[in-house]
Amino acid sequence: MISELNGKLFIGGSWKVGAGGRVPVENPATGEVIGEIAASTGEEVNAAVAAARRAFRGWADLPGRARSAALKRLGGLISADADRMARIMTMEQGKPLNEARGEILKLAEACHFYAEEAVRVHGEIVPNDTTDHESLVIREPIGVVAAITPWNYPAELVGWKLCASLAAGCTIVIKPADLTPFTALAIAQKVDEAKIPAGVVNVVTGPGSVVGQALVEHPGVDKIAFTGSSSVGLHIQRSCTSVKRMSLELGGNCPIIVTQSANLDAAVKGTARRSFRNMGQICIAINRAYVARPILDEFVAKLAVAAEALTIGNGLDRPDADLGAMASAAPLAKTREHLADALAKGARLVTGGSAPEGDEFARGHFFRPTIVTGCTHEMKVMSEETFGPLIGVMPFDRLDEAITLANDTPYGLASYVYAKDLDEVRYLTTRLDYGNVAVNNVDAGVMNAPYGGRKQSGVGYEHGREGMLEYMNFKHIRVRHDLPQGS
Ligand code: NAD
Repeated sequence: MISELNGKLFIGGSWKVGAGGRVPVENPATGEVIGEIAASTGEEVNAAVAAARRAFRGWADLPGRARSAALKRLGGLISADADRMARIMTMEQGKPLNEARGEILKLAEACHFYAEEAVRVHGEIVPNDTTDHESLVIREPIGVVAAITPWNYPAELVGWKLCASLAAGCTIVIKPADLTPFTALAIAQKVDEAKIPAGVVNVVTGPGSVVGQALVEHPGVDKIAFTGSSSVGLHIQRSCTSVKRMSLELGGNCPIIVTQSANLDAAVKGTARRSFRNMGQICIAINRAYVARPILDEFVAKLAVAAEALTIGNGLDRPDADLGAMASAAPLAKTREHLADALAKGARLVTGGSAPEGDEFARGHFFRPTIVTGCTHEMKVMSEETFGPLIGVMPFDRLDEAITLANDTPYGLASYVYAKDLDEVRYLTTRLDYGNVAVNNVDAGVMNAPYGGRKQSGVGYEHGREGMLEYMNFKHIRVRHDLPQGS
């Protein structure tokens, strides 16, 4: 399964064995090397961008209906192959097989969503100050997109960029994360099978600081679509050597506010899901909880029960486990560091705090869902992105205090509110300085509506109609009309 993708690049509609050095890829649940990718050379990056450039005009000039049909074919092929693609993802990323399969099916859903958007690219006719002039505002695809993606959602984060670009009429060069490159290459196999024209989609692999950076600086790339950490996003913005369109989907440090009017059991269930799912390696993970003081103890006790009930396993052997391995040693080390920092500054460990015991966990990057209370904003768990299965809890007495605490962060990606009182809901949702606010649920991002961050969490949107407009330029055509002769 993976051996056929080893060292391969997908450029100009052909599979090539990369000429550069090799980077091993490990299964994070076992430490075994499952394959290796090519560190793409400068020539290979140039070839991928040139192929995307050559394919651009033909793809952009197709009727939306033809691009829509191609995306539907792609979505169909992906869902039909979901089991195999999920195995690839679990082997390189660690999440349990059922969850990986769910992600592949959501990628297929993105194909179908943007297939529908591709036939609805409208313009506007804008009245002018005089009746003899008319402004037509039309939309045109930007050109060649470089998509640079992280490892936590290896299919969806490629897919949102791929599908929206293709619907808009752009062509794309994808550079996936080094930890999870094979899912992206498996997507390229489906692109190939779907007979999407050569060069419309290309995949190069290799270290971000070399291959990603080469795309960022490439004069043939018109737009960077990046998802990853805020520090690399800022570096990319600073290191562009020419003006480019850019969307940056970056890190988060997401709060939940639970008021006294909340359905407590629902709040606990939602918090456990959004804090620990994918081992907390989610940009919209709940990192910190602010709970009305009278219900704090009950909330913490119930959250501990919910956390302890989550099953952990090697994602291949235990497809239905709630949690698998963390994707690498780095997020696990950061989780331990944030926990140690909180405990040193006076937090109390409620549950978790160590790796699960047993032979099956001995060689992988496993950690138990962990809760700390008695937190303050001096602690890293409350002020930085942990990107691991750790949540800090604090009480609040007044809603304005909860808002001040929740907004006390350079990030602005997602926030959560559990409250039944409508006045509380309105007060909180209008004051939370975040691109996404989920109320009485924890799915802050859905395919149908725009999803994006504020502040250091980024610029631009994915999902929804807005997600496609990120790949389009507006063109204003101002027309003067004369009365026809003889009228
Ligand atoms: P990262 O920033 O380290 O890497 C992301 C991608 O950038 C990788 O493909 C990497 O190879 C590449 N890269 C690294 N240096 C580069 C450079 N100099 N030039 C160009 N590309 C470069 O992030 P990560 O560790 O892979 O992912 C975790 C981060 O992603 C977290 O901060 C998380 O919050 C964020 N994230 C954000 C969202 C969102 O929607 N806002 C979604 C998922 C993940």
